Amino acid sequence: MTPNSPAAIGFLTELRQDGGHVPAPTFAARASRATWHERTADRTLHAVLLHSGAPDEACARARGRTLVFAGELYNRDELHRLLPPGRALPGNDAALVIALFGVYDLHVFRLLNGRFAALVTESGRAVLATDHAGSVPLYVSVAPGRVLAATEAKALRNAPAGRPVPARPVRGLPGTHQVPAGTVLDIEVATGKCVPHRTWAPPLARRILPEEEAVDAVRRAVERAVRTRTAGGTPLVVLSGGIDSSTVAALAARRAARPVDTVSMGTDEADEFPQARVVARHVGSAHREITVPTTELLRRLPHTVWAAECLDPDIVEYLLPLTALYVRIGGPGRRVLTGYGADIPLGGMHRENRLPRLDTAVCHDMETFDGLNEMTPTLSAVGGHWSTHPYWDRDVLDVLVSLEAGLKHRHGQDKWVLRAAMSDVLPHEVVVRPKLGVHEGSGTSSSFSRLLADAGAPPDRVRQAKRLVVREIFDQVVVGGRHPDDVALDAVVELAASRLTGAAR
Ligand code: ATP
Ligand code: MG
Ligand code: MG
Ligand code: MG
Repeated sequence: MTPNSPAAIGFLTELRQDGGHVPAPTFAARASRATWHERTADRTLHAVLLHSGAPDEACARARGRTLVFAGELYNRDELHRLLPPGRALPGNDAALVIALFGVYDLHVFRLLNGRFAALVTESGRAVLATDHAGSVPLYVSVAPGRVLAATEAKALRNAPAGRPVPARPVRGLPGTHQVPAGTVLDIEVATGKCVPHRTWAPPLARRILPEEEAVDAVRRAVERAVRTRTAGGTPLVVLSGGIDSSTVAALAARRAARPVDTVSMGTDEADEFPQARVVARHVGSAHREITVPTTELLRRLPHTVWAAECLDPDIVEYLLPLTALYVRIGGPGRRVLTGYGADIPLGGMHRENRLPRLDTAVCHDMETFDGLNEMTPTLSAVGGHWSTHPYWDRDVLDVLVSLEAGLKHRHGQDKWVLRAAMSDVLPHEVVVRPKLGVHEGSGTSSSFSRLLADAGAPPDRVRQAKRLVVREIFDQVVVGGRHPDDVALDAVVELAASRLTGAAR
């Protein structure tokens, strides 16, 4: 049984040798909070857990070691086989991870396929870990005798300045760093000395496979990723009618006893409703359409930056329509499945038929995704929902990235291998539908551009203006801790436009 949400979806932890206490943290994720406190001979651990009802299941203790775990695992069956035979199976992911930590130490994190951020503490030591994709962001502030960690940077904004660690500094928060994707930081608490270990890296080599084998490998990997994300409960698939989300909806519907739910968003300017309807009808989902007025869409810019803690204007543009959708879904917390991220390993964004360029794009995107927080569960958590992305399952990603480029672009089609894998599952028109980005299909890019043009940004500098807007919002809602409802967006936009107009003169 996979419940709608993991035991915890986020945390702040403070580990100290000398007592002390956690500064009251702010989070964008909407969830119940529980505090957890532990004092041993040599340390105190305070944790604030963001949860949906079972915070105790997010913490585990064994042999003088404590684990705090936000998120979930997708290869439990494999992991169970690593436990000594005859042993009762751990009842939750935290218990499973701490049991395996006892066997593998930090190398346990090389074994996990999941969506998580974790802290393990034991005598004198703090171990922080991200999943392979860093899909649950993790931030840290380290000083001798003290380790603070949190799944949102803004939760550490009141932390005393930390020392440098081998991780990415966060703009405006001195001493706060983001733990890289697929990384374990092994920290000696007394000194703050910090040693990084990579637990995953994107494959650089490419596999040559016959068409049928490639298609079969992709189909099986995606099917498994959808299955491990949907066991029990009725998932909600955010559906555009594009090949990526239609695949997820179809595979989820195939294995569900009851119809799955699907939802599409559009604006008063653009939508993909007709295309999504074709898929919803075909898979028999209970389908909903949500139209967000463009004015409301743009008002969600501060919420998007607040949730994703992202400074990249392109990424914010992809995430903005989804944020607007997530806050509109309403009702009790759902388990949301998306088709997000398929285009990165498949080179779908590049509309590019020359194979060297396609593979260059894949290499570049796989080298630079870290820190963008595209996959963060906080985005849907601002609406109270847990989201998960089957295409960024560790096994799916390993398969997709490593296919030679000629399997990604083939017979004149982009994302050929995925389309071929779904040829007997989805209607032909869906299988061959050209890619349309979420920022395009919702009119988000154009309405954001217009907002800046109307404020006087020079037409050739709109992208820079967007960058300035995103940065200013970041400074207010992440660094400054302001609530996104309190950001004066018009003033931010005008400031950005006037800076560029001034610079252009
Ligand atoms: P394609 O990339 O071929 O267009 P896609 O539309 O499924 O397929 P993206 O456009 O890359 O994928 O969008 C990323 C994800 O965001 C989708 O897979 C889907 O889960 C979600 N999404 C995109 N547009 C919408 C929309 N209009 N309504 C609901 N969810 C959407
Ligand atoms: Mg896509
Ligand atoms: Mg694409
Ligand atoms: Mg699309």
